[in-house]
Amino acid sequence: PLLINQLAAGEVVTRPAAVVKELLENAIDAGAYHIEVHITQGGMGMIEVMDDGVGIHPDDMVMAITRHATSKVADVANLHGITTLGFRGEALAATAAVSRMTLTSSHDDSGIGRQLQVAGVLEDIPKLIPIVHKRGTTVTVKDIYFNVPARRGNLKSIATEFGHIETIVREVALARADVALTLFHDNKKRLSLSAKSINSSNENPNRLPLSRLEQATGALLTPNALEVVVDLSSLVQQPMGPIDNNYSGQQASISGWLWPSTDSQDTLPKLLYVNGRLVKEPIVNNQLRQLAHKAGAISVGYALYFDLPIQWLNVNVHPSKQRIKISPLNNIMAHLSHAVRLKLKTVIT
Ligand code: ADP
Ligand code: MG
Repeated sequence: PLLINQLAAGEVVTRPAAVVKELLENAIDAGAYHIEVHITQGGMGMIEVMDDGVGIHPDDMVMAITRHATSKVADVANLHGITTLGFRGEALAATAAVSRMTLTSSHDDSGIGRQLQVAGVLEDIPKLIPIVHKRGTTVTVKDIYFNVPARRGNLKSIATEFGHIETIVREVALARADVALTLFHDNKKRLSLSAKSINSSNENPNRLPLSRLEQATGALLTPNALEVVVDLSSLVQQPMGPIDNNYSGQQASISGWLWPSTDSQDTLPKLLYVNGRLVKEPIVNNQLRQLAHKAGAISVGYALYFDLPIQWLNVNVHPSKQRIKISPLNNIMAHLSHAVRLKLKTVIT
């Protein structure tokens, strides 16, 4: 079991920022609206993520840190779509295998929760201790790789490791503007993002407020950020049979922002989210860059949100979950390019 756990751990827990990413995804999956991240020594001392999500029932606490235990694969169809961010059930187990982890959670409003501790490979079933905790979950990860010296030796400087963590937190902040996020490093507040309400009913629910985009990227974008909204409903096949007015499972749209730049140093964020998950799709990036070039810009930054029917997606392309296959991508890109071309024409001459 030692070998298996540590191999699995290597796949998931590549560096402290990878732990932060998994813990943030778990908090979001649990429906959290406030997430606080405390880091010490670039994550090599401690990583702590506190959320106000649904919490974990005491009976499920041990399961949560056991490999391949996931509460999220409701059916096989979920694996083809992206309904929740996690689906492999090994992030907590893998992290626990290479650190000293404390999991504390409460699933009700009694003010009391349970806590368990693991350090390295599980030998006995960990004990649950009652403890004061409001509804939600706190995961504390200390001394990462304390039992894997080779990995510990591979870690970079505190500044570098914290930089990766900050990037991850910013990426999550851009995926979910309705979630408040705070990041501390060695007790200093490094990022504090209030929740933005995005629930006005006639608006795209995924619309990212420009203020959150600026806060999370740390850039002043107001003068040249262009809002992009693309309706893709013409690409959605309505189901056969009588018209069902309650049929609402078929969303297809793009919203977001892009900002062309004439700066030759292209360090602009390039972020594509598909159904809430950050993905890499070179085709989207290349096409946007070409459009920007044609319009006279040198580079283009973007934060685009694709909201697509899950049948269009296949997330099993790559285990890191960053690559995904979108099936009518050419049609989507035709619509997006058209909208972007119109926008660019109005700003660059
Ligand atoms: P996965 O997210 O792929 O299911 P994890 O190892 O990340 O696997 O988590 C295992 C399980 O622990 C989750 O399925 C969930 O039930 C529970 N869990 C983990 N983190 C949280 C959290 N912050 N809030 C509520 N439940 C959580
Ligand atoms: Mg997870």
